[in-house]
Amino acid sequence: MPTPARNPLSLETFIGSDGLIAGSDICVQCGVCLSACPTYALTGEEIQSPRGRVMLYRAAAEGLTHEYDVVLEAAYDCLDCRACQTVCPSGVKPGELSVETRIALQNGKPPSWQIAAILEPFKYPWVWDAMNFGVRTYQGIGLQKWIRKSNILEKFGTVGKKLKELENLIPQNVGPSLRTRLEPITPAIGERRGRVAFFLGCLMNAFYSDASSATVRVLTLNGFEVITPRDTTCCGAPHIEEGDRAGFDTVAKRNLDLFDGLDVDAIITDCAGCGAEMKKYAKYFKHDLEYSQKAERFSSRSYGLSEYLKKHGLRDLPQHDAPEMTVMYQDACHLCHGQNVCNQPREILKENPLVAFTELESASDCCGSAGIYNITHAETSQQILSGKMERVRESGAAILAVENPGCLMQLEAGTRQFGVDVQVLHTSQILERAYREGVSQEKA
Ligand code: SF4
Ligand code: SF4
Repeated sequence: MPTPARNPLSLETFIGSDGLIAGSDICVQCGVCLSACPTYALTGEEIQSPRGRVMLYRAAAEGLTHEYDVVLEAAYDCLDCRACQTVCPSGVKPGELSVETRIALQNGKPPSWQIAAILEPFKYPWVWDAMNFGVRTYQGIGLQKWIRKSNILEKFGTVGKKLKELENLIPQNVGPSLRTRLEPITPAIGERRGRVAFFLGCLMNAFYSDASSATVRVLTLNGFEVITPRDTTCCGAPHIEEGDRAGFDTVAKRNLDLFDGLDVDAIITDCAGCGAEMKKYAKYFKHDLEYSQKAERFSSRSYGLSEYLKKHGLRDLPQHDAPEMTVMYQDACHLCHGQNVCNQPREILKENPLVAFTELESASDCCGSAGIYNITHAETSQQILSGKMERVRESGAAILAVENPGCLMQLEAGTRQFGVDVQVLHTSQILERAYREGVSQEKA
């Protein structure tokens, strides 16, 4: 439970720096958003709905309520999945308002020392390489296997239960971090179509480096030279989501300085959460004299992998006699609801001759990961995950494709926990495999 600050919300918060989050005043209370909201679906309580949240924030901003602890709790209970924003006919943005409310009431600081401790490592890229080494050692000596098999953590009461939840989130077979194995420049393959920078990110680099390696490979196979700045810092999504504007500014400004001088056509990420924040740098630094132009240049060049590949068109994929795998796709909230990138990943999967695509029921509903929501609100997150896993099981597909590390972690953990026999992969890995198998067929 966050510590409430004594800082009344200002109406300016609701108007927002660019008018994007304006709309608490234009909410007509129609209730269209209710059916899209996971917390309302679970509780049926108005205060846990987008409409209820918007009304509450507005009341606080207008000084009609001073119960800031209640307002903050409502804001932190929101997953910021933004499903409500996709369906709202009036353009209200309850998810973003929740984040703005956290920032306003927390004075731009983390809500507790525990959250501050979780957020701190995100500021230092080397910490993620160290974590990667630690996890690989943990897996390499067989400790992870033993801990999972023996269920030993369950014997340590509440602390053990929490540790087990966290341990289950660690992906299997983690490879060396991408930062340590990728050259700063990876040349284009075949006819050159452009030059892009790749944004390393934190979780993708440390825990899904094979997927990010596939991302870079796919870009080069599509004719793009890839520059990978090694000093890339966290995009700031975990900080801003927790109301830590100061932490967000620190890491975002480092990235703005790092990428501004690069002569590239685009900055590509394979992490939905990063992409959503990278595109918002321009909004967050709009009034910063030193950084506004850098932020504008950065955001206007930021793209998700599928978004960029579809914008330029996929290079021909090698043909196969018949699909080899049935694949479904889970939307990452910050890609579909946050950036309106919903069709491109599906289209890329459908173009892949290795893939028989099947639509996952309610694919655009949140999986319950939501940044560090699965740590701060473990019970709610588990309830959401349980429903998602039922639908994954019923789909009958062998592979679940995703484009976000938080979702990869959550869904992979879900398959273990709920005994669902489905492999969770990044879409880049499936695409890279199609190109690779084509090459080996040509050689045969
Ligand atoms: S947020 Fe949008 S969808 Fe929800 S009640 Fe208000 S106007 Fe209707
Ligand atoms: S962002 Fe998600 S959890 Fe928050 S109010 Fe909207 S639908 Fe509900």
